[in-house]
Amino acid sequence: MTTQYIVKDGIAIITLDNPPVNGLGHTTRSGIVAGIAKANSDSQVTAIVLTGTPRAFSGGADIREFNTPSATAAPNLLEVIQTVEDSSKPVVAAVAGLALGGGNELSLGCHYRVAAKGALIGLPEVKLGLIPGAGGTQRAPRLLGMSVALDLITSGDPREAESLTGYADQITEGDVIEAACVFAKNLKRGDHPKVSAMEVKAESMPGGADAFFAAARTQVKKMAKGLQAPMSCVDAVQASITQSFAEGMKTERSIFMSLLEGTESKAMRHFFFAERNAAKIPGLPEKVALRPIKSAAVIGAGTMGGGIAMNFVNVGIPVTLLETTQAALDKGLAIIRKNYQANVDKGTLKPEVMAQRLADITPTLLYADLAQADIVIEAVFEDMKVKQQVFSQLDAVMKPGAILASNTSTLDVDVIASFTKRPQDVIGLHFFSPANIMKLLEVVRGKVTADDVLVTTMALAKTIKKVGVVSGVCDGFIGNRMIEHYGRQAAFMVEEGAAPEQVDQALEQFGMAMGPFRMSDLAGLDVGWYIRKRRYIDKPTLRYAKWLDVLCEQGRFGQKTQAGIYRYEPGNRTALPDPIVTDILEKYRTDANIVPRSIDPKEMLERCIFALVNEGARLLEEGIALRASDIDVVYLMGYGFPRGVGGPMFYADTVGLDYVIKRMAYFASNAHADPEFWAPAPLLVRLATQGGKFN
Ligand code: NAD
Repeated sequence: MTTQYIVKDGIAIITLDNPPVNGLGHTTRSGIVAGIAKANSDSQVTAIVLTGTPRAFSGGADIREFNTPSATAAPNLLEVIQTVEDSSKPVVAAVAGLALGGGNELSLGCHYRVAAKGALIGLPEVKLGLIPGAGGTQRAPRLLGMSVALDLITSGDPREAESLTGYADQITEGDVIEAACVFAKNLKRGDHPKVSAMEVKAESMPGGADAFFAAARTQVKKMAKGLQAPMSCVDAVQASITQSFAEGMKTERSIFMSLLEGTESKAMRHFFFAERNAAKIPGLPEKVALRPIKSAAVIGAGTMGGGIAMNFVNVGIPVTLLETTQAALDKGLAIIRKNYQANVDKGTLKPEVMAQRLADITPTLLYADLAQADIVIEAVFEDMKVKQQVFSQLDAVMKPGAILASNTSTLDVDVIASFTKRPQDVIGLHFFSPANIMKLLEVVRGKVTADDVLVTTMALAKTIKKVGVVSGVCDGFIGNRMIEHYGRQAAFMVEEGAAPEQVDQALEQFGMAMGPFRMSDLAGLDVGWYIRKRRYIDKPTLRYAKWLDVLCEQGRFGQKTQAGIYRYEPGNRTALPDPIVTDILEKYRTDANIVPRSIDPKEMLERCIFALVNEGARLLEEGIALRASDIDVVYLMGYGFPRGVGGPMFYADTVGLDYVIKRMAYFASNAHADPEFWAPAPLLVRLATQGGKFN
C-alpha cells in the first residue's frame, strides 16, 4: 500500500506513503481516490485531511513510472485532482517538506491548505521542457495571483509556503497533521470552496492584461535562452483569464501534449535521467565501503586550487592549502576572500559564514601539515615534472588510506600514480573553471584505482554539490579530448574563409553559451598553443589551422591580454571583431594559397558538433566514457551546451546517425578537408547501419 487511511475524531486522514518523496505513482493515485470515496461514504467523517510525510507532501510524478503504462493508467492525476475537488466533504491538504509539480497541483485541488513553515512549494515542470499539466497553470493564478503564479511556473523554482500569499490558509510551526485536523474540525458543514470556481485574483495590471502579458513575455524570453517551454508557460497562464476554467484546462492540456512530444522536452528529460545515471558505475562489487572524508588538503592556490578549496569549506570540510611561497599563498587567499566578499556584498552570504569558511582554510608551506588529511587534491602547474615532485612528497607524508587526487587537465593519471607506492589510492579529479561555480567534476579512474577510491570520490562529488562523471585515462579525458576536435574544425573554417565571429554566431544561435572563439579567448589562447606545441611533436601528421599560432606569437592570448581572436576594451569582456585579426587572416590565407569561400551557418554548426559526436563515439568504443549520456552530462554541465538540445550524443540521435555520417562524408570531400579527421568511428557506422542510437 502506498497510501494509509485512518479516521480520527471524525476526520479521515489519507496519508501518502510512497518513499522517498511520495511520487504519485499508480497505486498512490488509486489510494487517494479510494480514500476520498471511503471518507465520503462514512457518516462518522466530517472532513478529510490529505497529507504525506514530514519530508514530502509529494514530489510529483513517480519517476520510476516514466515511460511505463502505469504512468498513464487510470486514475490519472487529472482525475485524482478532480475527485478531490469534487469531494462532498472538504479536503484539507496538510503540506510539509515539499509539494512539487503534480504534488503541488494536488494540493491546489484541495479545498484548503495547512502548510508547515518552510515547506517548499513549486511547479518545476519547465525544467523538463514542460508546463504543469494537471491544472497548475489554471489554479495557481486563481489562488496566488497572476504575478506570483507566473513567477512560480516560468522559473520552476520552489518558494517557501509562507512567502506565497494565498497558498496556505494556515502556516504552522508545529505538527502539520494536527494543525490540519483542528482546522478541518472547525470548518462549517458544506464549507469548501473549489479553486477552479474562483475568479483569477485581481491585481493591478497597469495598461491592462495585454500589456501585462506582453511585458511578461519580454522578461521570460530574456531568461529562456531560446527554450520554448518558458514561453508556453506564459501562454497557458494567460488562458486562465481569457478563458473559462474548463477551456483553460483544455488549453493547458494541448500545450502540455505538444511540448511532451517535442524535441526540447525529450532532450531535457534525457538530461534529467542522464545526470542520475552518471552516478551508476557498472561492474563494481555490490557494497563498497566509503572512505571517510572529514578533512581535505589542496596543493597550489592558483586559479583552480583556490576554487577547489572553496568547495570543501562551503560544505564544512576543513582544508589545508599548500603553496611554494608565502606570497603565492597570500595571493590565493586574497582571491578566495574577494570571491566570498562579493557574495556578502550581494547579500547571498552572511558575513559570519564567510568568516567561518575562511577560518576553515589553514594555509601552509609544509607538507607535514597535510599528513592527516583524508584526501589531497593537487592543482599545481600542468607539468609532469612538477606533478612528480608533488606526488613523491605526498607519498612520503600522507597517512595510509588517504586519497591522492590530481586536477590535471591533460596528463596521464596512471603515470602520476606511478610516482607513488600506492597507485591504487590515486585518482584524477578534474574540476572545471571557475572551480567554485562549475558543477561538473570528471572523475578519472586510473588503471589500478581502487574501487573504494572511485566510489568515495563520486560520493564526494555529490557532497560538494558537483555532478561526478567517470572517465577513463586518455589525453583530455571526455570533455577536453572532444573539445579539441570541435576547436580544430572551427579554426579550419576560419582558414577556409569564415570570420571568427560568424562561426561563433552560428554556434551561439544553436544555443551554445559561447561560440568556440569567444570561449578560447576567455580560457586563454596560450593554453591551446601549449597543447598544440606538444601535439606537433607527438603527432606531427595531425593537421591544425595555424593562424591561431600566429596570434599567440604576437602575444595575443585572449581576454587576459585584451587581444586575442577578438579585441577588448579595458575592463570590458565584450568580444569586438578586430581589423588587425582580419588582416592577419587575409595574409595567412594568401601565404597558404587559400582562396576564401563563404561557408553557410549550417555547415559551421554541423562541422563543430559532428566533430564532437565522432570523437564521443570513439570514447565510447574505447570505454573511456561509460555511456553516451555521460558525455551529454559533461557537455551540458561543463561546456555550455544548450539544455534544449540534450547534449551532442542526444543531438546526433535526434538528427539521425545516418544523416551524421552522410554529412561527415560531405565535409570530407571539401578540398581543404582532412579526410582522416572525418573517418567515422566504427561505433557510429555500426549504430547507423542498424538504425540504432547512442542513447
Ligand atoms: P595556476 O598557474 O593558476 O596555479 C598553479 C599554482 O600552483 C600556482 O599558484 C603555483 O604557485 C602553485 N605551484 C606550482 N608548483 C607547486 C608546487 N610544487 N607545490 C605547491 N604549489 C605549486 O594554474 P591552474 O590554472 O590553477 O592549474 C592548475 C592545474 O589545474 C593544472 O594541472 C591544470 O591543467 C589544471 N586545470 C586547470 C584548469 C583551468 O581552467 N585553469 C581547469 C581544469 C584543470
